[in-house]
Order: sequence, then structure tokens, then C-alpha cells
Amino acid sequence: MLVDSHCHLDLIKNSDPDTLVATAHDKGVSHFLSVSVDLEHFPTLLGIAKRIENVYASVGVHPNTPETVVVDVETLTSLADDSKIIAIGETGLDYFRTEGNLAWQQERFRTHIRAAKEINKPLIIHCRDAAEDTLRILREENASDVAGIMHCFVDSWDTAQEAMDMGFYISFSGIVTFKNAKTVQSVAKQVPLERMLVETDSPYLAPVPHRGTTNQPAYVRHVAEFIAKLREESFDTIASVTTANFFRLFD
Ligand SMILES: [Zn+2]
Ligand SMILES: [Zn+2]
Repeated sequence: MLVDSHCHLDLIKNSDPDTLVATAHDKGVSHFLSVSVDLEHFPTLLGIAKRIENVYASVGVHPNTPETVVVDVETLTSLADDSKIIAIGETGLDYFRTEGNLAWQQERFRTHIRAAKEINKPLIIHCRDAAEDTLRILREENASDVAGIMHCFVDSWDTAQEAMDMGFYISFSGIVTFKNAKTVQSVAKQVPLERMLVETDSPYLAPVPHRGTTNQPAYVRHVAEFIAKLREESFDTIASVTTANFFRLFD
């Protein structure tokens, strides 16, 4: 059994969520966390989660969503008031795709952490070229109270350690299977099994051997298989520990 801890079922084109979930089931993927990127599409996402068994969702505004989109704690907490909404995010910082003065992005990140703490649901953290500020804000806002997932992890071992010290789990995407992803691979080798998760981030970042095509939750199997080889563990070990970790984090 495997869990795709981060996908975007509502953003995968040319296929409907029911088919994607059925295809993934055939590959042993049993549970899915479909992550919110903005509030405009949130009703669709919630609809999918409520309709399909074992599909859960989060609520949040992605750091790359333009500055003009403003969100407050109350909106997030009231939208999260549903048993199928198990996390707040994805939130965090992205200094790669958004440039300039990013005080607004940091403020939006703080808002998400405050909302998560208020309703005691874990955070889904997106971090790109912003490890230092991400960790600093997580510390300043006492995000360890709720912790969560460092999704699509591509940062250093030091960053992984600091995040784990705050109670966060480290989630690896298809990037770990890419030939030149040496840093990610070395982190994936070192992260303690009880802190590791796997994800697709589909429709993005399809793992080898599907690199360059549209990603889908079924492909999380390739991520787990690659990590198993990398760590010289069995596939079953990686599948069962990452699944157990997911259920421990989300009760
Ligand atoms: Zn992300
Ligand atoms: Zn994502």
C-alpha cells in the first residue's frame, strides 16, 4: 500500500479524478492528499475529496499565486472546517518563480501557519530557493505546534534536519529519480525512515521512466521504488513506512 502525499487531482488534464484514482489503486496506491493552490478552485477540490473515498484535500493559497490574492486566517479556518480537509497549504516561500520584494509572500505564509495552529491541522510547505527564510518563519511562528510536510524536498541535509527538529516530515517527489538530482538523492538516503513520505506533485514532475509526460498519482510507485533501491531497502519497507508516517501525521 502506498500514499500519494501531494497531488493536484483537479489540475491533471485529459483525465478525470475517478479514473486517476482507479488507475492508482491498480498500482497499490490507496490514499491521496490533493493539495489546494488557490481558493478559486477550492470548491472543485473539496467536491472531489468528498465524492471519492480515500481522497483528502487541503486548503491554501500557493506562494506563487499573485500578490493581489489576499487571504486571512478566518477564511482559511472556516474553509478547513470539514473532515475531508486534513491540512493547510500549500504555503511557504518561492523565490525562484516569484521575484522582487516578497514581504507579501512571507505575510501570506505567516497567515497560513496561524490558521493551521488555530484549528490544529498540519501544514503543507512549498519551499524553493528560500530555505533560510522558510525555516526562520516556521520558527518565529512556532509552526512546530502543528508541524506538517516539507513537500517536494530539494534542499540541503541541514535544512531537512532543522525541519525534522520542528516535527516536519520530508516528502520526496519524482525529482529524486532524475539523473542530476544528486543532492536530493543524498538527502533521501539519510532521512530516517520514520520521517519520510513520497508524493507525485502531479500533474508536474513525472518520475523516470515517465519524465516529461503528465504526471499522475499511480506514478508515486516509481518514486518509492527508486528510493528503495537507493537505500538498499525493499519496496515493501518504503511503501509501508511512508504509509504509516502519513497516517501518524494525520491521525
Ligand atoms: Zn509545491
Ligand atoms: Zn503542489
